[in-house]
Amino acid sequence: MMDLKIPGGYTLRPEQEAFAKEASSILHNGGLYMVSAPCGIGKSLAALLASLPQGKKLVICYRTKTQLGIYLKELRALHPPVLAVSLFNRLEMCPLDNSALTYHEFTERCRRLRSETMDRMEADAIKSTGHGSAFRMDKRKLKRIREYPCPYYALVKIDRNGARSFARDCCRSFMDPVQVCALAKKKGWCAYESLKAILPEASLFLGTYHYLFNPPIREMLERSFAPLPEINIVVDEAHNLPLFARELLSAKLSLHAINNAYSEIQRFRTKMSDDLLHAAAPDDVYEAFDQYDNAAERALTITDGLRVVLEKLGDLVGDRSKKVLGDRVGGRSKKIPPRLVGRMVRAACGDDWPQVADHILWYGEVIKEKKENDGEERIFSYTHRVGLALRIFFESTGPSYVHLVERSDDGRRVAIAVRNMDGREITAQVLENVHGGILMSGTLTPLPVFSDLTMSGMNDRVALREFASPFPQKNRLILVASDVTSRLPERSPSMFERWAQYIDAVCASNRGNVACFFTSYALLKKTPTPKTSGNIIVEGRHTLREEVLSQLARSDRNVLLGVMGGKFAEGVDYPGSLLTCAISVGVPYAPWDDYQRALIGYMEGQFPRKGRTYAYHTPAALRLAQTCGRPIRSESDQGCMVILDNRVLSHEILSCLPSYLRQELQIVHSPGECADMIRSFWSGPSG
Ligand code: SF4
Repeated sequence: MMDLKIPGGYTLRPEQEAFAKEASSILHNGGLYMVSAPCGIGKSLAALLASLPQGKKLVICYRTKTQLGIYLKELRALHPPVLAVSLFNRLEMCPLDNSALTYHEFTERCRRLRSETMDRMEADAIKSTGHGSAFRMDKRKLKRIREYPCPYYALVKIDRNGARSFARDCCRSFMDPVQVCALAKKKGWCAYESLKAILPEASLFLGTYHYLFNPPIREMLERSFAPLPEINIVVDEAHNLPLFARELLSAKLSLHAINNAYSEIQRFRTKMSDDLLHAAAPDDVYEAFDQYDNAAERALTITDGLRVVLEKLGDLVGDRSKKVLGDRVGGRSKKIPPRLVGRMVRAACGDDWPQVADHILWYGEVIKEKKENDGEERIFSYTHRVGLALRIFFESTGPSYVHLVERSDDGRRVAIAVRNMDGREITAQVLENVHGGILMSGTLTPLPVFSDLTMSGMNDRVALREFASPFPQKNRLILVASDVTSRLPERSPSMFERWAQYIDAVCASNRGNVACFFTSYALLKKTPTPKTSGNIIVEGRHTLREEVLSQLARSDRNVLLGVMGGKFAEGVDYPGSLLTCAISVGVPYAPWDDYQRALIGYMEGQFPRKGRTYAYHTPAALRLAQTCGRPIRSESDQGCMVILDNRVLSHEILSCLPSYLRQELQIVHSPGECADMIRSFWSGPSG
C-alpha cells in the first residue's frame, strides 16, 4: 500500500481521521462504507486518504461537476502525486463550434467526423505508404491535417505519443477538463481523446455518475481504465444516486417531439422528391420516388396518429385533475395501461405498436443517413427519437415500471412516459461488482433507507455511519413554527398571510441576507411579497447564480425568493456571510399523483410497512435538509434556519432528518417569538 502524506501544516479533524481510518479498513476488506457526514467534516480529503493508499485503481464520481474542483484542490496538496484523469462529456470538451446542436445532434456529428477522419487517414496512408494502417503513417507526410473532417481527432490518432504526453502533463498539474480543453485547442488536440488515451496508465478517474452508472458509458471506462472488480469507488453526493438511476431507466414521448417529427418528415419528403427528380439515373427515379414517397406517407400517418393518441390521453390529466391536485410541485400524471395505449395506437396508426415503432425508426434512420450523405451538420432525427421512445415505452415492463400520461405544470405539455421505480437495477450491478467503495453525502439519512435503495441483499458487505456536524452548535439557530403548515387542505389566504408575517419578522430581525425557499412557484406567487426596504430577488428560469451571488455580496439587505430543489437551494455555497438565514416555507413533499402512489405501492411491496418512508418522507426530508443547510457551510459561518411547517415535527419527517437538525430545533409559536429568538441569537456571544 502506498504511503500518502497530507499537506504540511494541515491537521485532520477527529471526525475526518475517524472517517479515513474506518473507510480504509473497510476498503481493504472489499466492503462498502456508506456515510452521512455533514458539511465541514472534510469528506473529500478523508475519502482520498482512505482510498488512494489501497493500491487499487480508483473512480470518484459525483452528480454535479462543481465537486471536481474540491477533489483537484485536495489532490494538488497530497504527496506522492497520482496520475488523475478527469473528463466532462464530449460535447463540453469539443473545440469545434457546436452551439447550434443539441447533445444528440452533436453525438452523431462527432461519431461521423471520427469515422470520416479515420477513412481519410486510411486512404492517405495507402497512398503514401502502400499499406492501409493509418497508425503507421509518417506524420511528416500528413501536411494537410487541417483538411481532415476532424483535425483535432486526426492529430491524436497520428501522434499518439504526443497526445499522451500532452495529457500526462495536464493531469500532473491537476488541470480540470475546461483548462485542458483551452490548452488542447491551441495545440490542435482533441482534449477528450487525448485524456482518454492515458486512462490505462492513470490510477484515478474523476467523472460524473454517468461514467460509472450509465452502462454504455461505463463500458468505455471499463475498457480503457479497469474492470469493476479491480477498482474502488467513491460516490459523492450519494443521496442523488437512487433518483439518478431511476431516471436513467425512464423514458418520455412528448406531443412536442411528435409534432417535431411530423414537420421533419414533411420537410424531408419534399427534399427527397426534389433530389430524386434531379437524380442522374432517370430510369430509377420513379421507382425510387414511389418507394420513398410511400414510406414518407406512412410515417406521416403514424406520427399524425400518435399525435391523436397523445391528445386524447392528455385529456385524462386536464382541468379536472388540475382542480383536484391544485398547485402541488411538479407535473401531474395518470397511470395508463400500456395495453390500452397499444390499442389506441393500432386504431389511430393502422398497425400494432411494434410495426409502428419499426417503421418510424427505419424512416428516422433514412433521414439521418441522407443528412449524413449530404454533409449536413445536424444529423439528428426527431422521427428516430420518437421511434426509440415508443419502443422503450412498450418494452419496459415488469413491476418496477409504471406507465403514465403526464401534463406539465403550466398544462401545455403532454407526454406518455414509462418511469422506473427501482434504480437498483443499475446501482446494485455496480456496487456488487466493484472491489470496494465509499458512498457519502452530507444528507444521507436515514442510512438504512439509502442502503436499501441502492443495493440488494448486500448487508454483510456494507457498513453504515453517521457523523455529527463538526461546526459549533452556538453558530446556528434552528426554528420551527408550530402554527403554520403547507398541508393542502389548510392552504388558505390566512395561511399565506401568516407565512408572510413570519417572513417579515425574520427579515426585520436577521442580520444579513435572507433566502426564502418555497415548495413550489405557485406557493411563492401566492404568498404576499416580504415587506422589506432591501432588495428582493426572485428566482426565475433564467436567473443566473453568479449574478445573484454578486448581488448578495454587494449588500446584506437582500431577500432571495426561490424554490426548494431549485438552483439556489441545493448544490450552491454562499461563501463568507453572503447568506445568514434560510427560511423553508413548507415541507417539499412530491405531488400526490399516480406516479407517487405507484412508487409508494412498489416500495411497500419491496420493503413492507416502509413504502411511505422510502418513497415519500425521505425525499421530502432530504430536500428540506439541503435547503436548511445553505447558510452554514464552514466552521466560522453563523446563521439561522427557519422552517415554516409544523409537519416537520412529525415522527415521519423528524426521523429522516440529519441528527443536528433533529436535536437542535426549537419551536416558536408566533412571528414575534421567532423575531425575538433571532435577535437574541445575533446579540448573544456568537453574534
Ligand atoms: S473527436 Fe473530439 S474534436 Fe472531434 S468532434 Fe469529437 S469531441 Fe470534437
